[in-house]
Amino acid sequence: MLLVAAAGTVLFASGGGLLLYWNTQRLTDSAQWVQHTDETLNVLQRASLLAERIEYRSKLYALAGDEDQLRRAQTAANALTVSAEHLAVLVADNRNQAANVANLKSCSATLSEAVDRLTQRSILPQEALGLCQKTVGLMTDQEQLLLAARTQRSQQNQSTSVIAEVLLAALSIAVLITLFALLVRDMLQRQRFTTETRTMNERLGETIQALEDQASQSNLLSSARDEIQLCLSVDQVYAAAASTFSRLLPGTSGSLSMLDNSRRTVELVAGWGESAIQDNFSPEACCGLRSGQARWRLPGSSEVHCSHFADLPPERYLCRPIIAHGETLGVCYVQCQTDLVVESVTGHSDGLRHLVQIVGMAIATLNLQSKLENQSIRDPLTGLFNRRFMELSMERELARAARRKQITAVLMIDLDHFKQFNDHHGHPAGDAALKAVAEVLTENIRAEDVACRYGGEEFAVILPETALDGARERAESILDAIRKIRFRFGNETREGFTASAGLAFFPVDGNTSELLFRRADAALYRAKDLGRNQLVLYEAPEEIV
Ligand code: GH3
Ligand code: MG
Ligand code: MG
Repeated sequence: MLLVAAAGTVLFASGGGLLLYWNTQRLTDSAQWVQHTDETLNVLQRASLLAERIEYRSKLYALAGDEDQLRRAQTAANALTVSAEHLAVLVADNRNQAANVANLKSCSATLSEAVDRLTQRSILPQEALGLCQKTVGLMTDQEQLLLAARTQRSQQNQSTSVIAEVLLAALSIAVLITLFALLVRDMLQRQRFTTETRTMNERLGETIQALEDQASQSNLLSSARDEIQLCLSVDQVYAAAASTFSRLLPGTSGSLSMLDNSRRTVELVAGWGESAIQDNFSPEACCGLRSGQARWRLPGSSEVHCSHFADLPPERYLCRPIIAHGETLGVCYVQCQTDLVVESVTGHSDGLRHLVQIVGMAIATLNLQSKLENQSIRDPLTGLFNRRFMELSMERELARAARRKQITAVLMIDLDHFKQFNDHHGHPAGDAALKAVAEVLTENIRAEDVACRYGGEEFAVILPETALDGARERAESILDAIRKIRFRFGNETREGFTASAGLAFFPVDGNTSELLFRRADAALYRAKDLGRNQLVLYEAPEEIV
């Protein structure tokens, strides 16, 4: 468009220039013609004067015989001849005047000769003089007409030229204004286009950034999910979740706090950054846990603070409950230093919700798994290992003891007269007594020892890498602790429990699990026979020896 406008302007300027040139040329021509006619008229006027002078001087000479007058008449006659010659040149382009000038030349020549003859007392031919004057008059008339026509044409040309120049100037201004308007429009369009392009680029950049953020967020979440699925314990889940939270929510600090088994305390289990939350608090202290949904505490919008802070509560934080299968497990706490960080966390709210769900599900699954595992290997009443697990452990321990050439002790314990206790105090009281014995056992064994409820009121303990003295000492301390059992059941205190125990050793008393249990049991029955409330070590019968 601009190129077309520029080309049009160049053409217009060239056309205008040519027009002006042509106009000037015409004006110059017409002015020259006017000037030419003026000059011709001047010469004609001079010729008329010369003719009058010739007549006048000739007459004076004729009257007074003054030689000076004659000379002057001759000079005038010569000048008339010259003027006629000059006029012949001036009107050469005009056919009518050319005929007149020929007449003038002839009559001026006749006059010149006549003036020369005046000394001989001849008279001036009035005919030639009259012809000269008449011809000059005729020519002057024609030139006057020509002058009027040429002056008129010149004036017309001037008017036309002025109109053309005014029009040209007006058109030039219009063209310039149009060009300027086009330029301004183009500039504005360009500016608008640049602004639109910049805005679109910015939007595109933001979209790409958002997509990249989403992609990296979803990568982070999927790798976190994979990692969390690999976790074998809830502690691993907590650690993996805290690390993912710190990467997903840069600039924040926070923690995972989980409800304990009593569901009366929320305990801090993992954290990232320096957060102000307390290690332990009651579930009521957290607005998020109380409301059962995510809750932001932000200045100006939600002023109520949770009360799980030891010092002054921070200004901006989020408490999102961790819920799985409808059960609240704990709370994810996210603390933000600035509004900008709050904005960033809000932008990641989907990812945060997703991650909290993943963590909740993982914890619930691991809890369920451990519950199922415990159910399969533990006795539900006492929490001790069951007989099946005991037998499997026994196999493992014996194999290890054989490899290391070490002694392993097997202790069997049976409560004395427990039927009587049950009969007197009832089965529930018996159950409570069994639990108390289980606690005593757990408290009096080492970490590597394995205690189990062998059946009814009978217990067994594997004591790896334990020789006679050590085993006897441990068994005695267990029996002693059973004797000291005192617990309240209902309104009454129960006490006075005793137990009998038998000990057998690998490899001396047997090298298989079954044999060792049998021999420890035999020692136990021996203890019963010997009056109960005592420990008996297995001894091989004499006849076998
Ligand atoms: P002894 O000194 O000879 O071992 O006498 P005892 O009465 O302990 O022996 P017995 O084997 O005759 O009785 C075992 C009793 O243990 C029978 C049963 O009432 C009680 N018992 C076994 N299992 C449980 C249980 O799970 N809960 C309760 N309350 N009692 C149990
Ligand atoms: Mg018994
Ligand atoms: Mg028994």
